[in-house]
Amino acid sequence: MRSLGRKSIQASLQPRDLMAEKRLKGVWTAQVVTLFPEAFPGTLGLSLTGRALKDGLWQLETVPLREFGDGKHRNVDDTPAGGGAGMVLRPDVMASALDAAQSRLPGAPLLYLSPRGKPFTQARARALAEGPGMTLICGRFEGLDQRVIDAYEVEEVSLGDFVLTGGEIAAQALIDASVRLIPRVLGNQESVEEESFSHGLLEHPQYTKPAVWNGRAIPEILLSGHHAKITDWQRVQAERLTKERRPDLWRAYLRAQNRDPDEDQEL
Ligand code: SAH
Repeated sequence: MRSLGRKSIQASLQPRDLMAEKRLKGVWTAQVVTLFPEAFPGTLGLSLTGRALKDGLWQLETVPLREFGDGKHRNVDDTPAGGGAGMVLRPDVMASALDAAQSRLPGAPLLYLSPRGKPFTQARARALAEGPGMTLICGRFEGLDQRVIDAYEVEEVSLGDFVLTGGEIAAQALIDASVRLIPRVLGNQESVEEESFSHGLLEHPQYTKPAVWNGRAIPEILLSGHHAKITDWQRVQAERLTKERRPDLWRAYLRAQNRDPDEDQEL
């Protein structure tokens, strides 16, 4: 594997430094607008994503929102119009950060991590992995002024129906899910093709040694060496799990196969 050199992901202190910072050309890039650049790379610096980052298979840059703040105190937020609890991130401050980010990575999707967003999916991760990268906005407090979302045509993406304190953990989740689909990031590319959601199903159960643990044996078929039967067993298990746990996915799966979900009596 050709190494493209180590990339430092230290956030620079001044936006101008950020602009001057060297970057790898044509390499998939995640830019993160955040009040907490020190949260990165976080878990992305570990294991497979971390090694790929060091090898230059992708790069990560933070855009520290505080640097774009207003006045001596670099204010980034203010009280909500119309009253109510908490603080809202200011549109003018966010716009300056987004201008800096977009000039560095023109044409990349601009996403705001938000519980109001469209739920993130494996299909979206795949599409993002195939593009040039992405610019992610991490919210804090009550979130972002609506006008900057509208003006920059920011797409809102959610990790699920729960509320986090800030967008940083969600951003790391999105980056992780996307980066692992970039060719050569995972050692074993086949694992990506078999795993959950790849064929619209949840993955079958996995086992490893010892063959018997606490009186529980690995299903015999998996030790039979009969590849076709094993594949068959795995498909049946994947279908069973999907049907039990995710009727929504199961219906979509049946429809994709031109089977009528309404004829499935168990649903
Ligand atoms: N007041 C907002 C929640 C703000 S939580 C609301 O009710 O919709 C603060 C920040 O955490 C958000 O701006 C967002 O960036 C992040 N966040 C919280 N929950 C999230 C989720 N489910 N998915 C993605 N980001 C989330």
